[in-house]
Amino acid sequence: MNSGPIIKKFTGKVLCPKLEILVTLKNNHNLKFVAIADTHGKHYQLKLPKGDVLIHAGDISMKGEESEIIDFLNWFELQDYEFKILIAGNHDFYFERESDEQIAKLLPNTIIYLKDSGTIINEYKIWGSPVTPWFFNWAFNRHRGNDIKRHWDLIPGDTDILITHGPMFRTLDKGVKGQHLGCKDLFDKIHEVKPKVHICGHIHEAYGNIEKSGIKFLNASILNEKYEITNSPIIFEL
Ligand SMILES: [Zn+2]
Repeated sequence: MNSGPIIKKFTGKVLCPKLEILVTLKNNHNLKFVAIADTHGKHYQLKLPKGDVLIHAGDISMKGEESEIIDFLNWFELQDYEFKILIAGNHDFYFERESDEQIAKLLPNTIIYLKDSGTIINEYKIWGSPVTPWFFNWAFNRHRGNDIKRHWDLIPGDTDILITHGPMFRTLDKGVKGQHLGCKDLFDKIHEVKPKVHICGHIHEAYGNIEKSGIKFLNASILNEKYEITNSPIIFEL
């Protein structure tokens, strides 16, 4: 009779380092994505626009304590989106300290958690990694060069949406003094894979979006460098 949306919901938490088809959402309109990052415990103050998929690109907490993580997950779970995707950031120590089993226990069934792993929504291959270049031994810090490259090597060549906590070199990565803080190894990998969209946060002062080399780059940091809410969620459609 009518060929309206056919929506197949799923329950899933991706923790393992491979791409798994967990999701099929078929409908006849574009998917609307809402990207946020670096909310650092201030999630309750956010007003989010409507959309199909909500993505948080890491740094949900200040110190990565379990209580902060639970507080965030309680809020995230309630947000009205078909799919909610989360990666950790360098503040979110809980996710590095605890075992996958423990994290899986804490995660609500409605949240997709990516850690050098991926999922597929409407044929879009989505990959997420919490890793950032070494900076005073924060969570998921790796030394630039081979140490960090090992993580980027895991990104599948056909990734459509790449989520990493940190930016790549020379794109939405300028610190307060104007220095480029992004990852050169990630720059190389992104130019090899050429995803449709790259989402990051981490460098709060580099919030924004830009399109180049056929790739949409978003730095979705919600807080500014003084940890005040100054920036809006970034919306895109595919
Ligand atoms: Zn960060």
